[in-house]
Amino acid sequence: MKDIDWTKLTFSYTETDYIVRCRYEHGAWGELVVTQEKTLPIHVAAAGLQYAQQCFEGLKAYRRADGTIGIFRPIENALRMQDSARAMYMPLLPTDTFIEAVTLAVKMNLDYLPPYGTGATLYIRPIMFGITPKVGVAPAEEFEFCIVVTPIGPYFPTGFGTTPFIINRHVDRAAPLGTGQYKVGGNYASSFRATEPAHEAGVGVLFLDSAQHLYLDECGGANIFLVKDGTYCTPKSDSILPSIINRSLMQLCRDLLIPVEERRIPYTELGTFTEAAACGTGAAISPISRITDPDNGITYHYGEEPGPVCKQLYKALRDIQFGRVEDAHNWCYILD
Ligand SMILES: *Cc1c(COP(=O)(O)O)cnc(C)c1O
Repeated sequence: MKDIDWTKLTFSYTETDYIVRCRYEHGAWGELVVTQEKTLPIHVAAAGLQYAQQCFEGLKAYRRADGTIGIFRPIENALRMQDSARAMYMPLLPTDTFIEAVTLAVKMNLDYLPPYGTGATLYIRPIMFGITPKVGVAPAEEFEFCIVVTPIGPYFPTGFGTTPFIINRHVDRAAPLGTGQYKVGGNYASSFRATEPAHEAGVGVLFLDSAQHLYLDECGGANIFLVKDGTYCTPKSDSILPSIINRSLMQLCRDLLIPVEERRIPYTELGTFTEAAACGTGAAISPISRITDPDNGITYHYGEEPGPVCKQLYKALRDIQFGRVEDAHNWCYILD
């Protein structure tokens, strides 16, 4: 295992040894390739660069209590990448190939898989983009699928502490046409102007629906849930990314008899909740201490410590991911 101070890792890139690649040409996917070369010569007119014909995924591998290695719900990521690829008019990578590639990327970089108990994990980032040179507005015919992995620590520096958030309604995260529901780079690039200054200040950003700026959408790279009277409430919106963690938490709520409401949530309701948190693969559950609305100067407070529902769900999720309890829904894919 590499000599890394696992407990000091942040959510940033640490170079690992291998990447996995697969090229689509002549209408078919080729063989998986493992290589130490992490750069790729790419034509400057590649459709992935010219028109952002691109999509990506994010998932994690965990060293578990019993010494096995698990990946959390990779089939869901494979299916979502197919949805994103379809939306970007790209070929679909078969689910089996996706799982095989992810497994290979983890196995080849095992030295970087953080030890159990450090809280750090191995983040897996599959990406796909068009490489055919295109100057006329048209899709590529050749595509590259690559996976890079990196050991990471918490998404927010506070880990499972609380982070302040700020509402943004001046820079839209996504076009109001529902394009935000795919994991494509363009959605992120268009959010940087709103998110970077906040991130520099250690603050998260909460986006409202970009059509009316009335309803909660999601956080930069994570969904949001809030708690009121013991009920888990999360925005229903067709311009948010369908988060696998959010969906998993809703299932855990049902298992734990916590009522769930997935509905439109107007920002004017923010004062009525007792807990709030960002949720996603990167964020896991990142409790929110307060949400500031800079346009009307109001700050809504949810406590400087994680609340009871956040704590209960965090434990339930982590126990499954790290193999400390029975995996009733068969969410963990165990490497052999
Ligand atoms: C990846 C992502 C999420 C979280 O999704 P998970 O499947 O839970 O990791 C939420 N919002 C956006 C915009 C994302 O890109």
